[in-house]
Amino acid sequence: MFDNHVHTNLTEDSNATLEEYAERAVDIGLSAFTITNHCSLGRLKEDGWKVVARDFKKLERDARIFSDKFGIDIKIGVELDYFEDRKTQFKDVLDWFDFDIVLVSCHYLPPDFKVNCADRSSASFFEACTDIDHAYRRYYDNVRGCIDFLAQTRGDFVLAHLDLIKKYSAKFFEVPSVKDPFYFKLASGVVADLVHDNAKNIAAELNTRGFEHASKEPYPSKGILELLFTQGYKRITIGSDGHTVEGLGKYIPEGLSLLKEIGFKGVYDYEKCKPYFVSFSEPRFT
Ligand SMILES: [Zn+2]
Ligand SMILES: [Zn+2]
Repeated sequence: MFDNHVHTNLTEDSNATLEEYAERAVDIGLSAFTITNHCSLGRLKEDGWKVVARDFKKLERDARIFSDKFGIDIKIGVELDYFEDRKTQFKDVLDWFDFDIVLVSCHYLPPDFKVNCADRSSASFFEACTDIDHAYRRYYDNVRGCIDFLAQTRGDFVLAHLDLIKKYSAKFFEVPSVKDPFYFKLASGVVADLVHDNAKNIAAELNTRGFEHASKEPYPSKGILELLFTQGYKRITIGSDGHTVEGLGKYIPEGLSLLKEIGFKGVYDYEKCKPYFVSFSEPRFT
């Protein structure tokens, strides 16, 4: 079992150290995990939400030390924010380091990108929201813009938690189902983009953190995963989005069970940004 989405104390949303995660990984039976700290474009290192190029040298050194000490594979990736007006900065970050995985996230609501859907401050936005459909439409338009940009960018990427908007909206509005015609249109638009031949360099993440959030379901939902599966899409990877030691690997077994229930035969893992398929019958899943 592995976990491809983990945050350390290099950004302000986590206090956990790499060594603590490595020790915990052994305890819970992970064979590998990937550190994917935030690189929130447009923000400064001093904001606490952005790793910078020099951080990766130290991470690489520490990963080697603790991989040897605990006998597990620690990989290094990044969680990069997509903003339609910061594409050049995005490409610059790709040159910083030979990443194992590049998670790409749409955390913010366009057009002004002042609402961060991952942040509890967005609860006040959703509490006051009088047109939730409009907010969803804006969010999904941004996700589709992100897919379009990644499809045209050299490299392999993972679209993280693609329906993250429900994280705080779920406290005030029912989580939409793909059975709802309005939401079906939004979800199937993203699915159509992902299954398109142009987007073969993009995988989708099954982010298990949602199991403990207000929506009580992963990102993306089972409904979206089923849409992907029925269209032959196989490029799914998995991560806990752990920000604490206890969060490492959390709900990954539940996420894997859900994928199996839908019919997926395995998940994708990454090494130096190259995806490879890992069947559920392989020893690391048994
Ligand atoms: Zn995120
Ligand atoms: Zn994250």
